[in-house]
Amino acid sequence: MNRQMFLRRAGLAVGGLLFGSALSGCGGGDEEALASSSASAGAPAILPTPDVVADLSPEEVAGLLFMREEEKLAQDVYLALYARWGTQVFASIAESEAEHTEAIRRLIEAHGLVDPAATNPTGVFENDDLQALYDRLVAMGQPSLIDALKVGCLIEEKDIQDINDKKAEVLDEPDIVQVYDHLLCGSRNHLRAFNRTLFNQGGVYLPEVITQAEWDAIANSPSETCGG
Ligand code: MN
Ligand code: MN
Repeated sequence: MNRQMFLRRAGLAVGGLLFGSALSGCGGGDEEALASSSASAGAPAILPTPDVVADLSPEEVAGLLFMREEEKLAQDVYLALYARWGTQVFASIAESEAEHTEAIRRLIEAHGLVDPAATNPTGVFENDDLQALYDRLVAMGQPSLIDALKVGCLIEEKDIQDINDKKAEVLDEPDIVQVYDHLLCGSRNHLRAFNRTLFNQGGVYLPEVITQAEWDAIANSPSETCGG
């Protein structure tokens, strides 16, 4: 059994325990009913598997919660940089990021998880690393438009890396893979747009997260139409 499979089964076991403890807290009526049914059957009662709790592996859950906030981070940084520079590329891509973080929110809702970004305003995050990253990136984009466009390039290459990492941990959830693929397609287009705008401003970006070869392959290929 590989590690992911093991953790998935561990997750299922935890789900069963949670359900069991919730059930035992329901009062005497349910316990008596269970006791009598198991007694009459001559075997322990088989508890139904609760879909919402056992649905996803711990890695799949962590991936969704992280990507919900990372897509929000992209949106919020671009809104801040649009406010600073008034350059259209930030406003356009912020709109796309709003759609991306909403797509993850819908997955979070569909799988019965708690949305980490349900009430946080622009620039506020539950994940401490993402909060620190947001603060740093907005500061990095203040000195010049070229600096701000390089922030866009950095967010997009990090986003591509992180989505690929989270996607690799998804076992058999086609709805999650479909959304991750959609976000990857959008990120490649965003990378191209920032790279082109930076070039037109006389700047050049050197990738820090993905390889130069990966960067060039995306930057030098045509924009894509990203399906739903
Ligand atoms: Mn995105
Ligand atoms: Mn993006």
